[in-house]
Amino acid sequence: VRAGSRSRPGARGGACPPAVPGYGCRGPAAAAMGKETIRVYARVKPLGRRQQAGSYSVDDEEPLPSLEIAVPRDLADGFINNKRESYKFKFQKIFGQEAKQDVIFDSIAKPVAECVLAGYNGTIFAYGQTGSGKTFTITGGAERYSDRGIIPRTLSYIFDQLQKDSSKVYTTHVSYLEIYNECGYDLLDPRHEASKMEDLPKVTIMEDSDQNIHLKNLSLQQATNEEEALNLLFLGDTNRMIAETPMNQASSRSHCIFTIHISSKEPGSATIRHSKLHLVDLAGSERVAKTGIGGHLLTEAKYINLSLHYLEQVIIALAEKNRSHIPYRNSMMTSVLRDSLGGNCMTTMIATLAMDKRNIDESISTCRFAQRVALIKNEAVLNEEIDPTLMIVQLKKEIQDLKYELALVTGKQRTSELSQEELLQLDELIETFLRDNDPDSSLDVGADMRKIKYCFVHMKQIINHPVTSGTKLLSQDISEEKNSNKEAGEELEKLKGLLQQRDNEINILVTMLKKERKKARDALSQLNAISAGSTVLEQSLSMSLEESQSPSRCFSLKEAKDLSSSVPRLPFLSRETGGKMSLGCQEAFEVFKRDHADSITIEDNKQLLKQRFDEAKCLGEKLNEVRNKINHLKGKVIQRQIQRAALGKS
Ligand code: ADP
Ligand code: MG
Repeated sequence: VRAGSRSRPGARGGACPPAVPGYGCRGPAAAAMGKETIRVYARVKPLGRRQQAGSYSVDDEEPLPSLEIAVPRDLADGFINNKRESYKFKFQKIFGQEAKQDVIFDSIAKPVAECVLAGYNGTIFAYGQTGSGKTFTITGGAERYSDRGIIPRTLSYIFDQLQKDSSKVYTTHVSYLEIYNECGYDLLDPRHEASKMEDLPKVTIMEDSDQNIHLKNLSLQQATNEEEALNLLFLGDTNRMIAETPMNQASSRSHCIFTIHISSKEPGSATIRHSKLHLVDLAGSERVAKTGIGGHLLTEAKYINLSLHYLEQVIIALAEKNRSHIPYRNSMMTSVLRDSLGGNCMTTMIATLAMDKRNIDESISTCRFAQRVALIKNEAVLNEEIDPTLMIVQLKKEIQDLKYELALVTGKQRTSELSQEELLQLDELIETFLRDNDPDSSLDVGADMRKIKYCFVHMKQIINHPVTSGTKLLSQDISEEKNSNKEAGEELEKLKGLLQQRDNEINILVTMLKKERKKARDALSQLNAISAGSTVLEQSLSMSLEESQSPSRCFSLKEAKDLSSSVPRLPFLSRETGGKMSLGCQEAFEVFKRDHADSITIEDNKQLLKQRFDEAKCLGEKLNEVRNKINHLKGKVIQRQIQRAALGKS
């Protein structure tokens, strides 16, 4: 983990804008330069049940409110008379006992979180004696959800904002460091549960040649959402409690630094912004001298915690003008927080005060410390870095573009042969271009005459030798056309064959017909020549029938007889004669009729039919008569109707 840096290669940007509550670090104003003092707030803890209230008052003076603390008379009386009885301290804002956690977050932490989101470093640290509410303010109370402190609220706010901002890609990590007795411990180390605190690998400080501080053995855990980050916070807090024993009041003597690391990048940009937010719960600021040691009460007493002593020294040095050396390196805590104190950071301090009578002296010490801190000027700069790999890709592309442009402007053409890869690329481009149905599509090969020439040659090949040019596109079209032609030809051939077949069939039938006719004629002349006889006719009929049928079939005489009753089927009853028989034929028919077994029945039927026909004719005539009558009457009715209508009108 890079903890702090004096000079950062590739870093650029401006300082955070003036420290006005509600200022925004986002937008163009964020680039404004300028130094800014550390903002110091005071928060007074509510009195405990048995605690006696100390005397203090808050004055909302302009421009900054002040806190006046009166030293109780009984205490002051014991001292030298020239001691002051009341002390007045200025703060950015003073939060009374009733101030709720959400108000603290909105006024103190939110503006810093905004700056961190914009790419600046931020630090919020709580300073005060043990029991004054540092942990309550930074982490929060465990009893109520509304008691959540700055860390969970800040995480919630940050992840909320990140989710809303889709213009950048963000990555967030957290680390949780505890410094106890000048030793650093990784509170997120998973081995915490299994081993003793002393056995864990210590977090140590390393400084590189650019004076950047790196923390060895401090893990950076990625947190992609609020829940993951909160789980890490709880893990760290649990580990912190495990290490604590009644004998070893670690929580009041150790410093805890929860850090949120954010990096952001706009898509496609090579610039990365890094920022980190330290949320610091310092060790109790109580000093050696306590009530009862007369004369020393309100003078500077020694810190119980040595690193707080070094912190104070750093702050004194920073507050003094013309001090060139700042003793950051004296303690681990000041090294880690170097940027937060007099460096590249937006820093805010919360002085937590327990204003009961017994703790008045400590509260005054806390306020004194706060006044010194308020003098320190910091300069937060935008922590931007260029991602080298992305930069290389961008520069390569720029070089290529410039080369093209240069070739176009100077008219100087490259003479080297196009590579196999380039040729393949061009082939692909030509193919897509030819396939594109959009009339506005263009073939863009850049300002390279070699490529342009190649395209022309290739296109010419395609046009002149569509099949051999190997262009799938054209050859495909041609084969498609060929296919359709072939299909049509096949159809034509088929139809032609069919036609030929029909012609042949017709020819065969015609010759057959002719033969039959000839045979019929011959048979008739034979009949005329010899005396007519049923036996002869039957014979002749059977013969002609046999021949007219297919050779595989032979008719018996009986069949021929049956057939003879259905005369129209006989071949000699040709259509050409309109179904009427020739003279010879009629005679033969008469003979046949006379000799036929059913001839009497036929004659009877004929008579009956004639009779019926006459009856029908008679009825038809009658019917016609009646119809005429009806028509006549109809005409009369119409006439009447017309007459009536005419009468009705008049
Ligand atoms: P520190 O971390 O400075 O030693 P704590 O934050 O542990 O002090 O606070 C000591 C006790 O006082 C805790 O029980 C805490 O819940 C309570 N406390 C501190 N500040 C407040 C406050 N503003 N409102 C309500 N309770 C508080
Ligand atoms: Mg605490």
